[in-house]
Amino acid sequence: AKVAGKNCHRFYSRAMDQAVERRVRMEQDLRGAWERGELSLAYQPVYRLQDRRLVGAEALLRWQHPEHGAVAPSVFIDVAEQSGLIETIGPQVLRAACADAMQWRRDFPGCDVFVSVNVSPRQLRNGDLAALVDHVLSTTGLPAAGLHIELTETAVIGDEVRVSSLLARLRDAGVKVWLDDFGTGFSGLSHLRRVPVDGVKIDRSFIADVLRDPDDLALTTAIIAMAHSLGITVVAEGVEKEGQYDVLRERGCDLAQGYWLGHPMTGQDFRGLLG
Ligand code: C2E
Ligand code: CA
Ligand code: CA
Ligand code: CA
Repeated sequence: AKVAGKNCHRFYSRAMDQAVERRVRMEQDLRGAWERGELSLAYQPVYRLQDRRLVGAEALLRWQHPEHGAVAPSVFIDVAEQSGLIETIGPQVLRAACADAMQWRRDFPGCDVFVSVNVSPRQLRNGDLAALVDHVLSTTGLPAAGLHIELTETAVIGDEVRVSSLLARLRDAGVKVWLDDFGTGFSGLSHLRRVPVDGVKIDRSFIADVLRDPDDLALTTAIIAMAHSLGITVVAEGVEKEGQYDVLRERGCDLAQGYWLGHPMTGQDFRGLLG
C-alpha cells in the first residue's frame, strides 16, 4: 500500500488489522484440516551417540495448505495454541504417532524405537493428559515405554504443583517425559528439582555454536554433567555437523538428532530406516 508520511499511524493500524485478519483466516483454514487430510506427521530419527544406534523418532506436525502449500509449524502451531484448536489437534497427533509406532513394532519384530510427541502448554493446562495418554496407549497397543512426551519449560512454569502430579502419573505409567528447548529459559536448572523429568533436550541454539563458542561448549558440558548427576538423560538437537556429534559424544551426551543425522521425513521413509 502507498502511504504518505502523515498517514503513518493509519498505515500501522491497517497493517495490524491485516495481521489479525491473517491469523483469523489461518485459524478458519486450520479447523478441520486433520479430517481433510492436510495435516500429517514427519519423523526425525533420534540416535544414541555412543554407537549411533537408531533409538527413536520425534513426531513433527506438517500442514499442507490447499492454496498456500506447506505452512511453517512455528506459525500454525502458535495459531492452534492461541485459538484453542490445539486441544483437538494435539490428541489427533498423539493417536496417530502411537499408531505408527505400534505399526513399526508389528512390522519389524524386535523393533523397540520410541516415538516422541510434542505437547503444548495449553494441552497440559486444559484436559487430562494422563487419561488421554492412557486411553491412546490401550487403544493402539503401544507399550508405555514406546512413548515419550516433550514439554517446554513455559508449559511447566507457574503451575508446578499440578504439573508435577500430572508428570508423576505419566511416569508411573512408564511414559518418559522430556523437557524441550532446555537452557533457553532462565530457571532451567532449578526447575529440575521441582518438576520430575526423565530427560532434557538441549536447545539447538547451544549446539549451533558448540564448536566455535567456548561458553556454549562450557554450558553444554555443564548441563550434561548436572543432568547425569540427577539421573536425567540428555538429548542434543540441531546436530548439523560431524564435529558437533563428536564433541557431544566425547562429553557424554546420550542421544542426538539433527540434519547431519537425519532430516524430518515421511513415515514411509522412516520405516525404511528400520528394516
Ligand atoms: P521443536 O520441538 O524444537 O522441534 C525441532 C525443530 O527443529 C523442528 O522444526 C525440526 O525440523 C528442526 N530441526 C531438526 N534438526 C535440525 C537441525 O539440525 N538444524 C535446524 N536448524 N533445525 C533442525 P519444525 O518441524 O519446524 O517444528 C518447529 C516447532 O513446532 C517444534 O520445535 C515444536 O515446538 C512445534 N511442533 C511441531 N510439531 C508439533 C506438534 O505435533 N505439537 C506441538 N505442540 N508442537 C509441535
Ligand atoms: Ca520437540
Ligand atoms: Ca526443541
Ligand atoms: Ca553463542
